[in-house]
Amino acid sequence: MPELPEVEVVRRGLDQFVVGRQIATVEVLHPRAVRRHAGGAADFAARLTGATVEGARRRGKYLWLPVGHDALLAHLGMSGQLLVGPAEAPLSPHVRIRLTFADGGTDLRFTDQRTFGHLLIDADGAQLPAVIAHIAPDPLEDAFDLAGLTARLRTRKTGIKRALLDQSLVSGVGNIYADEALWRVRLHWARATDRLRSAEVAALMAAVADVFSEALKQGGTSFDSLYVNVNGESGYFDRELNVYGRASEPCRRCGSLIRRDPFMNRSSYSCPVCQPRPRNGRW
Ligand SMILES: [Zn+2]
Repeated sequence: MPELPEVEVVRRGLDQFVVGRQIATVEVLHPRAVRRHAGGAADFAARLTGATVEGARRRGKYLWLPVGHDALLAHLGMSGQLLVGPAEAPLSPHVRIRLTFADGGTDLRFTDQRTFGHLLIDADGAQLPAVIAHIAPDPLEDAFDLAGLTARLRTRKTGIKRALLDQSLVSGVGNIYADEALWRVRLHWARATDRLRSAEVAALMAAVADVFSEALKQGGTSFDSLYVNVNGESGYFDRELNVYGRASEPCRRCGSLIRRDPFMNRSSYSCPVCQPRPRNGRW
């Protein structure tokens, strides 16, 4: 599952290679790829043909390209990729949608081996598509509101990691980056949100932004080629991880062995000394 930095890498690639170009042809090669588009494949193609891509924007893990007043919205799912490459290159069997451009240059291919991802056109969604308006801004957006988030955490009876993963509170934070940010600020994942001090929330969100920025720097190297890619893994950042996936390895701060707890059908990794467990689930 791609996390925010991976999706931002794709957004930057689209910004560089696709924005400003006029769409010449649209081929929908698999109906599942437009299953969320109300008008179906023919309507999808008709609305895009001849339009110019005016930007590349993102909220959380959703990307959209403003085209006129509308938005071409992408959700990459587990395995979706947006690839820019030579128009004459052979189509792989996993290409679901192909866009060519009037300038005759590179084309844009939405490929998705597992077909969980999809594209749709959101009418009048150029500024913010209606279908993702309920998703909160992410910590890298100008619209991110720390004071508002702090106030909302106070009213919730939940643990901080569960809140970090709640897209209605803050978007774009997945399991890996939640664990890394919590380790940096020495907070246990189960700490009660209504007992967190404002300074703790501020430090945590700064840590989330730092982890994202560092991951983005690692991903930036793939820009050199004319190829926009997200592979559904955070491979390039793996060497930088301090706790995620490091069960029973020494904490890089204190040497204690990292523990793994079950969490929402997945795992939480933390240091038992740097991030003491709250007593009775409270703190
Ligand atoms: Zn430690």
